[in-house]
Amino acid sequence: GAVESILSISRDITELKQAQLALQASEARLQAILNNAPIAIYLRDLEGRYLFVNQWAKTRTGLGEEVSEGQSVYELFPEGNRDEWWANDRKVLEAGVALEFEETTPHREGSRQYLSLKFPLFDLNGQPYAICGISTDISERKRVEEERLRLHEAERLARERAERANNHLALLSELSVALTSGLDYETITAVLARVLLPKLADWCVITLAEDDDQFKRFVAIRRDLAKEALLKEEAIRFPIPPKHVLQVLETGQPLILPEISDSFLEIISHNTEHLQLLRAIEPRSGMDVPLTVRNKTIGTIGFLSSKPNYYESGDLNLAQEIARRIALAIHNTRLYQQSQVLGQTQAELNQLKDLYMSVASHELRTPLTVARGYVQLLQRNLLRQSPNPNTSVDRSVDRTVGELASPTLPKPNSQNLTMLETILYQLDRMNGLISTLYNFSSIQNGKLELNYEQGADLLALIQRVVEQQQQANTSYVLAIQTSEKTVSGSYDEARLEQVLTNLVGNAIKYSPSGSTVTVGIACKQTPTKAGLEALLWVRDQGYGINPEDQAHIFEPFYRVRTQQTSRVVGLGLGLYISYQIVVQHKGRMWLESQVGEGTTFYFTLPLG
Ligand code: ADP
Repeated sequence: GAVESILSISRDITELKQAQLALQASEARLQAILNNAPIAIYLRDLEGRYLFVNQWAKTRTGLGEEVSEGQSVYELFPEGNRDEWWANDRKVLEAGVALEFEETTPHREGSRQYLSLKFPLFDLNGQPYAICGISTDISERKRVEEERLRLHEAERLARERAERANNHLALLSELSVALTSGLDYETITAVLARVLLPKLADWCVITLAEDDDQFKRFVAIRRDLAKEALLKEEAIRFPIPPKHVLQVLETGQPLILPEISDSFLEIISHNTEHLQLLRAIEPRSGMDVPLTVRNKTIGTIGFLSSKPNYYESGDLNLAQEIARRIALAIHNTRLYQQSQVLGQTQAELNQLKDLYMSVASHELRTPLTVARGYVQLLQRNLLRQSPNPNTSVDRSVDRTVGELASPTLPKPNSQNLTMLETILYQLDRMNGLISTLYNFSSIQNGKLELNYEQGADLLALIQRVVEQQQQANTSYVLAIQTSEKTVSGSYDEARLEQVLTNLVGNAIKYSPSGSTVTVGIACKQTPTKAGLEALLWVRDQGYGINPEDQAHIFEPFYRVRTQQTSRVVGLGLGLYISYQIVVQHKGRMWLESQVGEGTTFYFTLPLG
């Protein structure tokens, strides 16, 4: 055979070639995309063997570069992870669709969280032959999320704490304010019931330990009359509180009772009856806190709830704060009650003293007046018998009886007269002392009453006092210094006479014999220049008063102790009484003095 013909079949494979090339290019592209995608992409067959792992998964997860296709998860990963994955792979196979899981993958820097999308791959027969997983690293997102949750929780806790603290503060301040409203135990328990119940307890019991080993118990409860009756019965029938309260009283340490069991009630009760009452009251949790004032436990306050586990340690702090405030309120209540009693006793004593003083002064004065009358009668009789009845007798006490003897009288008579003078003088002195003491007690009791007289003339008063004093003290020179004709106003003349007599008397008592005492009066501007007032003064050339004593001179019973003054007798009340009389007249009193040169006492009185 010769070749007849050649059948040439030529197929244009350009397209196929091109298609192949295109496919290669597309696969390369896909590979590049898969490798460079910043997520883990992998294929595992049904036995867990890797069919494909992209570059990112190799380098960034625990797999490593060396992982080769065909290795299984069982060889590559520790137990926990692979079991988790395997379980998820099975779920995907069962479901036959894509599912999402959060998975943990070991990593070089510790394990990381992934969000894995997994789906089955099917062969041409529709049978699954592999599972493709695309896992995104969500560790950072997770961390941020967790942090956010943590912050959120912390914020919630802080807010709760702040709110709680705020509530506590509000409660405490409400309590403090309310506690000031009353000073008796009933008010305190009422305040407790209103402010603390039912927020902090279903009821409160205050136990106070009294000095005589007795207890006082108060119950604060709201709107539960049956329980209130039981609590009151318990407090009345068992004045000695349950034993755990005694323990708090003794140790001064608070007790928190999260769950009050029946056996606890058995322990704290005094006998079966008590136990029965406590059971009926049914406390389920509580706190007992000492009431402490100046480190002394004066009682306790119990907060009780009919719910178990109602209290935690934070509540104890609040309870202690409350206890501090209540202890203070109770302390104040006690002080107040004591002061009431003291005040009463003081008032009664004052009344008694008053009565005593007025009775004494009256009763003492009556016999003095009678005695004085008889002495004067005797004086007159003696003078009538004497040859020269006009002879006057010097009343100065500084002289002794012998010195007083007058040559114009027969000796016995003159001696008797002198003795009578002395008796008269001493009777007057006694009278003076009695009224000084009476005045003092009146001032102390705020009962120095003034009898104001309209148009009382101060100048006339000065003249009268100076005249009297001059007659009684002939060895001194008394002078009046004024340019006024008359100075009048509304005064208690008798009291002002007392003031002037005292000042002039002092000026004489505390000056050497022969010196001059000046009494002056002038109308002057008031310190505020609002008008005029009367200024009076008594000036002497006596011993003077040093500045230290000047500061105390108007205090009751104050006397200056110097060589010259100590021999002069006195009570130290004259200036005090004078000062009070002037002040009660709305005047002022002061002094100027120089030791060795003399003293001037000033006082002012309103005019008109
Ligand atoms: P008494 O004179 O009864 O002691 P007073 O209250 O009148 O009480 O006086 C208090 C004291 O003030 C006197 O003890 C005296 O030391 C002092 N005193 C009062 N007036 C004068 C005076 N004019 N000069 C010096 N001392 C005086």
